[in-house]
Amino acid sequence: MTFTPRCITVNSRPTSHGPVIHRAGWVVVDPWTILSNGFVKVESGLIKETGQGRGYGFGRIIDHGPGVLLPALVNAHTHLELSALKGKIPFEKGFGVWVKELIKQRESLGINALAIGAKEGIRSLIESGCLVAGEISTLGLTREMFLNSELAGVWFREFLGNTPSGHSYWLDKNEKIIASLAGHAPHTTSPQLLVELKGAARKHNLPFSIHLAELEAEVRFLKTAKGSWADFLTEQEIDFSGWGLPAQSPVKYLERHGILDENTLAVHLVHVDKKDIEILLRHHVQVCLSPRSNQNLHHRLPDMDGMLKAGLKPCLGTDSLASVDSLSIFDEMAFTSRAFPLVPPEEILAMATINGAKALGFGDRFGSLAPGKSGAFIYMPVKVSSRLSLIETVVNARFDK
Ligand SMILES: [Zn+2]
Repeated sequence: MTFTPRCITVNSRPTSHGPVIHRAGWVVVDPWTILSNGFVKVESGLIKETGQGRGYGFGRIIDHGPGVLLPALVNAHTHLELSALKGKIPFEKGFGVWVKELIKQRESLGINALAIGAKEGIRSLIESGCLVAGEISTLGLTREMFLNSELAGVWFREFLGNTPSGHSYWLDKNEKIIASLAGHAPHTTSPQLLVELKGAARKHNLPFSIHLAELEAEVRFLKTAKGSWADFLTEQEIDFSGWGLPAQSPVKYLERHGILDENTLAVHLVHVDKKDIEILLRHHVQVCLSPRSNQNLHHRLPDMDGMLKAGLKPCLGTDSLASVDSLSIFDEMAFTSRAFPLVPPEEILAMATINGAKALGFGDRFGSLAPGKSGAFIYMPVKVSSRLSLIETVVNARFDK
């Protein structure tokens, strides 16, 4: 099914006029609770009540039309600093060439062009119905623009390298933004630095993000301390003899170093087996999948069916515009729906909403249209006649841009 919705952001700020009642043909409170002829009553920026028909009482009424009011989408993993590289890095020559080209072009573009691209990226996130994001900032460029945007979410400052820094890091939390830390990946970042970063985030009970089990070369290096990645580190005169290798898998390696817990957001997980999934479950690790990016860069997808069957609750992230052609979570849902036909559409919508909000630490503010949550949500002008076709339509809609 092809569909091209336009999303309208409903951002209800406190007003002196009392409550605002948003009406629509449908209200998706969460993927399993759908109201026909529904309303969402918002007061002082927060949802006060959802319901059906005319039982909303006093307030200013905004009738959005026959379509659907939905929780704002959540893009739990992106790199806005790479937005200016959209369409510039070829995938065909393999991941190694892609990385080298990315670093080269990022340097040659310069800070101003990257900042303009990142601002454009924020705009396209919001336009495509995403109001909560997990931004991975390698250069520190996006801090102010992320803070000052309409987005809520986590600004993760990312570090990589071989030695602990001993720095004190900027960590913060308010109702709209969390500032925290990310370690790049277990094959690029020493366990000593990962432990330092995770320790700082843990001390403040904040989320910590890491790319995990994304690459074949990463897995081979961690399992054998040999291979192309080991050669590369040796060429760079990086001594990995103190990294505690070999390990049985990337997931087991992070478990051994004490990195895994409910505030760790593990991204990608393309190379995990049943035992790894059990470990992720046991430590209540948050899981973020980026199937479009994995397909483009590695021609391989994560075992989403296996993860769901085991009880994991993945969320979705697009990764950057250097590896996908849009930052739209609608596009990520549509791809996921085609690539994983056995996954129910309700689960895919949950990944794009409530699972992502919880993974980023915003489950009490976003992810569903429950009373007490943010009065910022989205409207899609769809025309459907049943609950089932509604969810199918939402999940398979590509963002029209
Ligand atoms: Zn990434």
